[in-house]
Amino acid sequence: MSQTDCLFCKIAAGDIPADVVHRDDRVVAFRDINPQAPTHVLVIPTEHVASLDAAAPEHQELLGELLLAAQAVARTEGLSDAGYRVVTNVGPHGGQTVHHLHIHVLGGRPMGWPPG
Ligand code: 5GP
Ligand code: ZN
Repeated sequence: MSQTDCLFCKIAAGDIPADVVHRDDRVVAFRDINPQAPTHVLVIPTEHVASLDAAAPEHQELLGELLLAAQAVARTEGLSDAGYRVVTNVGPHGGQTVHHLHIHVLGGRPMGWPPG
């Protein structure tokens, strides 16, 4: 199910162009338009889920697929040896700006901790 007013639903549907690095029936991964690291890829479900907080038990398998897709992207991008950061921002305090669940895969430089 897609939402007509959702940016990432439109990217998942191919209605808005993106630099897609992985696509299957349920998951799409594409490069962030404003990268925060040498590699910055967003992994999203094709189904509209507003955030991790909106996920339900029926999404258990999908959530696993998203994480495995993030792992696959990291491997393809050559990040596995040096390591990388996987993060999903939730709501205002989490810094979420696009309200369609997405996992950031960031790599290619050391990451600070704690995040800002
Ligand atoms: P959030 O802040 O919600 O965790 O992450 C949203 C991300 O989506 C941001 O890193 C932002 O740069 C990225 N983004 C926003 N609009 C677009 C777009 O139209 N195309 C792509 N590829 N990324 C986008
Ligand atoms: Zn959506």
